[in-house]
Amino acid sequence: MTTTRFAPSPTGKLHLGHAYSARVAHDLARKQNGRFLVRFEDIDHTRVRPEYYEGILTDLRWLGLAWDEEPWKQLDRLEHYQAALDRLKALGVVYPCYCTRREIETELTNLTHAPHGPEGPLYPGTCRGLATPPADREPAWRLDFQKGADLVGLLTFHDLRHGKIDVDPGLLGDVILARKDIGTSYHLAVVIDDAAQKITHVTRGEDLLGSTHIHRLLQTLLNLPEPAYLHHQLILDDSGQRLAKRHDALAISTLRERGEDPWNMLPPA
Ligand SMILES: [Zn+2]
Repeated sequence: MTTTRFAPSPTGKLHLGHAYSARVAHDLARKQNGRFLVRFEDIDHTRVRPEYYEGILTDLRWLGLAWDEEPWKQLDRLEHYQAALDRLKALGVVYPCYCTRREIETELTNLTHAPHGPEGPLYPGTCRGLATPPADREPAWRLDFQKGADLVGLLTFHDLRHGKIDVDPGLLGDVILARKDIGTSYHLAVVIDDAAQKITHVTRGEDLLGSTHIHRLLQTLLNLPEPAYLHHQLILDDSGQRLAKRHDALAISTLRERGEDPWNMLPPA
């Protein structure tokens, strides 16, 4: 059965861009008599605030986007991410990274050809093959994308807007799969949860198209099913900037108080 999800972070209010994203997922499911789910991506626990969970659901109800099951919270699911990380360790496709942000910046400044991706500089691989880890530091865990790619061979994914896309496993470099503080990351958690919730169509903004290359690699390494993708257009403000938390005037709750209809301010899905 077609199943989609909207996965907001309870670190701020819903704004017009979120409403658009939620509607894309909701309508895709409803058109096919499928299920529409909500999942809270709350692993950024220091920025999460309790009132945002209920605020987001209130906004979705007001928008007329009803969901079909009790929303999941990623903070309830840390053991599942840990189990997945253990499987990746057993496959030998992750390694511990002890670098601080500052050390990575210094390393990148010292390199003549610092590796670069679509979202900025890539991790230079400092800790890959590290012989003696520092005793006094907890590591983060990074994907060794080359080892992963060697295990799985060529991959593709299908996007409803962009068609068939060849996976470039190194597009984002050796990304962090488990942060020191929480033991997981966006990439690992989303792949595990999409599979656990039997999501058939992953919908999200096209700013996350690069992440899908990593996600297909992780899905294959972890023997998870391949969903279809729909990377939708981003909603921009009048100056062409993508909407963010600073756009309080375009928060759904503000529009509701002012009696404005958000759907009149958005392109058709
Ligand atoms: Zn490192």
